[in-house]
Amino acid sequence: MFYEDLTEYTYNAKDYFDEPEPGFRALWYRPAYTRLNVGWLEAGQPYPTGTVPAEFTAKLRAVQQVQWMNVCLGLHDCDLCPPGDEYPEGNGEIRIPGAPPIAYAAPFLITHYITAHDYRPPTEFIDAVMAVDLDAWAAAQWPEVPFPWVPEEGVEWLLE
Ligand SMILES: [Zn+2]
Repeated sequence: MFYEDLTEYTYNAKDYFDEPEPGFRALWYRPAYTRLNVGWLEAGQPYPTGTVPAEFTAKLRAVQQVQWMNVCLGLHDCDLCPPGDEYPEGNGEIRIPGAPPIAYAAPFLITHYITAHDYRPPTEFIDAVMAVDLDAWAAAQWPEVPFPWVPEEGVEWLLE
């Protein structure tokens, strides 16, 4: 799937968070925030390249340790890796709050695109990742999820 950076994300109408493993519960809702695509790369589609700060890559990896969402929407393979190589698979996405009402919607593979394929995400995304309150996200206990903009109302639940 290819989407140009900072276009509006329309892949799925709802955002979906699972309880961390080994949980079986989930919640989902129609976001009131505006989701912008970041890092949806595909072979044959040009994308911005360049170096990023090492602390950004480290922070992004740390964010992905605690937040992983929209996991059920299918597998995204990296098709930028040469055929026959061991390429990573990644399903799921991440959500990073930006300047309200913007939240960035990135595939879980974004870190691979940055480190293996020289992808440089937009500066506003880098700033947003650096601003994540990782301690608060890591401390979230279900039904809190590691994302601050889950609405008060209109949330649907899978409770098992
Ligand atoms: Zn790759």
